[in-house]
Amino acid sequence: MEIHHFEGKALDDLKAKLEDQIKTETGCLPRKRRAKGLCIECLEPALAKCYSADGRGEYRISGMCEKCFDEMFAEDEDGEI
Ligand SMILES: [Zn+2]
Repeated sequence: MEIHHFEGKALDDLKAKLEDQIKTETGCLPRKRRAKGLCIECLEPALAKCYSADGRGEYRISGMCEKCFDEMFAEDEDGEI
């Protein structure tokens, strides 16, 4: 087995490719960014912009802070209904 194939640069490239794929398929950013507590939408500390327990719950699910989540939701409702 050629494990050494995927060391260093090659491994980083592979990871980057996988993350791009995940991003494309799910529309979500890789876990790395969310682990820092950042909103995937505004890239600011999400918990600082979650004003309720519901908001924090949403952040855990969607990766977006409550403000961005509300805005996205509001846009949907303003849309073509
Ligand atoms: Zn946000």
